[in-house]
Formats: sequence, C-alpha cells, structure tokens
Amino acid sequence: MPSTSHASLTDVLIIGGGPAGSTAGSWLGRQGIDTLICEKERFPRFHIGESLLPNGNGVLREIGVWDKVQAAGFVKKYGAEFTLPDRSQTVNNVFSHGIVKGREQTFQVERARFDKLLLDHAADSGCQVQQRVAVTQATRQGERWDVIVEDRDTGESRNVSARWIIDASGRACVMGRTLGIGKETIPYPGRFAVFNHFNGVPRAAGHEGGNIIIIRLKDAWFWVIPLSDSTTSVGVVAQKGARTDTRESNESFFWRKVAESKFLSDSLAQARPSGDYRVESDYCFSYDSYGQDNVLLAGDAASFIDPVFSSGVYLALESGLLSAKTIERQIRKNKAVVSSRVYLCYTSAMKRRIRTMRLLIESFYDNKSFEVFMFPAPRLRIPAAINSILAGCTRPPFAVRWRFWLFRQICALHKKRAMVPFLNWTRVTRNPKLQPEYKPETTNGLAR
Ligand SMILES: Cc1cc2nc3c(=O)[nH]c(=O)nc-3n(C[C@H](O)[C@H](O)[C@H](O)COP(=O)(O)OP(=O)(O)OC[C@H]3O[C@@H](n4cnc5c(N)ncnc54)[C@H](O)[C@@H]3O)c2cc1C
Repeated sequence: MPSTSHASLTDVLIIGGGPAGSTAGSWLGRQGIDTLICEKERFPRFHIGESLLPNGNGVLREIGVWDKVQAAGFVKKYGAEFTLPDRSQTVNNVFSHGIVKGREQTFQVERARFDKLLLDHAADSGCQVQQRVAVTQATRQGERWDVIVEDRDTGESRNVSARWIIDASGRACVMGRTLGIGKETIPYPGRFAVFNHFNGVPRAAGHEGGNIIIIRLKDAWFWVIPLSDSTTSVGVVAQKGARTDTRESNESFFWRKVAESKFLSDSLAQARPSGDYRVESDYCFSYDSYGQDNVLLAGDAASFIDPVFSSGVYLALESGLLSAKTIERQIRKNKAVVSSRVYLCYTSAMKRRIRTMRLLIESFYDNKSFEVFMFPAPRLRIPAAINSILAGCTRPPFAVRWRFWLFRQICALHKKRAMVPFLNWTRVTRNPKLQPEYKPETTNGLAR
C-alpha cells in the first residue's frame, strides 16, 4: 500500500520537467527561490517536437543554457522549406532573410537529449529535480497547495506543500483539470500525426541540409527533420477520418500518404525505420485562462494548437520563463492575496503570442491561402515578414505586423479573384492508385 509521510515545503512546485518546466525551474533556481520539479519519467525519454524556432534562443540565453545547447552537437537549422508533393514549387524561408534580425539559426533536436540537457541545467541552477515522481493530486489548503506525489519506483506517496504551482505537465494538464478551467472552442478539425525516425534519408548539402521540410499534400502534410548525420524524423499529419479503413495500421497509413508524393517516395526509397510508428492525436486545445489560485499553466499544459510551424517548444520556453518571472515578482512582493490581474496579464501575454502563430496556421490549412503562401510576391517584402513569424517572432514589430495583415488581406481577396497561380493538386500529387506501392517490405522492423 502506498504510504503518505510528512509534507516537505517549497515555494514553487513545478509539475513536469519538459522544456516549459525546466525553463521555469532554471530561472527560479538562479533567483534563489526554493523550487522543486517533479517529473514522472526518467530522462532521457522520447518526446515528439524536434524542430526549434530561433526566437527561443533568447530564452535559452536568459536561463544560461545556450552555451550547453550550442556545444551539444545538434543539427543547425537555418530555415524552413515548404514544398509541393512533386517539388514543383518550393518556398525556402531562410531565417536570415527575415525582417527582424538576430534570429538566423537554431537547432533540430532529439528531444530525449535536449530535454535532459535542460532538466540537468535546472538542477545545476539550484532547482531541486525529482524524476520518476508523479504528481497525483493537489488540494488548496488556505494560502498553500497540498500536493501528493508518488515515487513511481517504490510506489510510495508523500506530501509537498507549495506556495505556487507551475503546471508544465504537457497535455496531461494536471492543474487545468484539477481547477476545472474552461476550454476555448477552437474551430479546427481533429487531426492526428503518425511518425518514425529513419536512417538513410538523403539531404541537401550545406545549410539547406539542416532545414525542416514541410511537404503539403492536398489534405495532409509531412515533416522531414534532420536529427543527426544518420537520423531523420518523418511524420504525417492528417484530419481524423483520413484512414480509408478503420483497421488500417499506422504504418500502412503512413506509407499510403508517402506514395502521394514523388519527392518523399524517392527520399524514403532506401530509408530504414528505426522504431515503431507512433501516433499523437487530439492535441489542439487552449484553456480560457492560464492561471488562478497561485497556479500558472505553462507550455502544452496551457495550450497547444498545431505542430506545422514548430512553435510548440518555443512557446513552452517563453511561457516557462514568463510564468517563473511572474511568480518571482509575486514572491518578492510577499502579498497574501494575488490580484486577478496577475493571471490576466500572464494569460493575455501568452495568448497574444499564440494568436500570431494561429493566424499563420490558418493560412497554411486553407487551400486558397496556401496558394498565396506558396507564391510569395517579393513586393513590399511580405515574404520577409512571414519569414520573421516563422522564426517565432510572435510579438512582431510594426514593420512585420502591417505586412502580415496585408498578406491575410491578399489571401481573402484571392478567394474571390485570382491573385496568384492556382495549384493543380491532381497534377502535383502522385495518384497512389496508379503507382506501384512504395512501402518497403520489412524484416524485423528494418526495410530491405
Ligand atoms: C505531432 C506533433 C509534432 C510536433 N512537432 C513540433 C516541432 O517540430 N517543434 C516544436 O517546437 N514543437 C512541436 N510539437 C509540440 C511540442 O511537442 C510541445 O509543444 C512541447 O513538447 C511542449 O513542451 P512542455 O514542456 O510544455 O511539455 P512536455 O514536453 O510534454 O513535457 C511535459 C512533462 O510533464 C511530465 N508529466 C506529465 N504529467 C505529470 C505528472 N502528473 N507528474 C509529473 N510529471 C508529469 C511528462 O512526463 C513530460 O516530461 C509537436 C507536437 C505534436 C503533437
């Protein structure tokens, strides 16, 4: 039977040691604030979300981990390429061509290694880190939170009493559920992703070899992310209901969609999958409010919209840092009652950033707006403004804002009257019914 022993005290309890939790822990630890991260897994552990945005570099610098990230040997990412299934049209967003300067490069990361590096850094920064320890319950007791944590190796439970909680538990949303916070209605269809790591995927030479490549099909899209000299992450995102047969396996679905792109079929012809095909679904949501009762929600525990522009880790880093700074200020003020404005300011600061990405995400999924996205007229430097947002510039300066606004007006106009060439989806897509099947035969999980 699990046992509950005496409560330990901490100023801040952080639930989850992913990018949001580690960032918050590193900042608070460095400020000398008594902080504990409880992470239910032992790192390194697999996680999806491998392509970073340059705007996150500033956060990594602020928490003092940038040099370690630079020294870790991750693949350097200089841009993001968007292409059609037959590669007949490609937009290569080189970050250095963006309007906002200083965001030229970031990294593609194996999350197992990246997350461990960040979590170790939180410990080095003075934050207490406990792994294989899951938060199972949290109850408000006066001005403190009484939290039950379970050691997953021994099965023992104990109590932690915290003044503040940062919920960085990812999509487990531990505190959002506990507090019963309402969720926004997001009018996007349910989507799912199927992905794997592959060896032997060819890539371009030089800086371009480090790009993320997004291959847009008519009703789905692929990411191709170089993770090391030998490993490439490839995943497909589609709407729920895209499986023709409910019994279709993840692997069959993946290869059926690969067959729609000549470029990807050729790229994966000699590639060998290195693990099982994994799936993630129903990830799009946002809480109405990201804080109440001395709890702030950070990263995916607050909101996750869509992976297409690789903004998840960046927003996790930003919200990790912002939540930590908000709590640091409150602790220094030492007031018994926290004004509701504190939660409101934190929520709106994060929602503003998310909204910028959301507007661009909507353009990507709408087939008409996507045509504008794929045929960027260099006039007025609109592509350079989009480029800055793709680098994660979610609080854009006026020079980016008005161009982004104009881009959206052109998208709206293009629905009524052709502003850019139309995409002929039948021409750019391989018809899988007419083509030989591209799924390699597998033996012991390896393609022949
Ligand atoms: C298909 C897909 C592709 C994506 N691709 C990208 C990409 O290319 N680039 C990008 O930036 N983002 C991407 N993302 C998003 C990215 O994965 C997340 O936004 C990011 O991991 C969020 O970080 P986090 O710290 O908030 O949460 P997480 O990284 O999920 O960390 C949460 C941690 O909390 C721990 N935890 C959970 N419950 C408890 C508990 N009860 N007690 C203790 N610990 C707990 C978990 O074990 C976990 O380690 C993608 C997402 C999906 C679904």
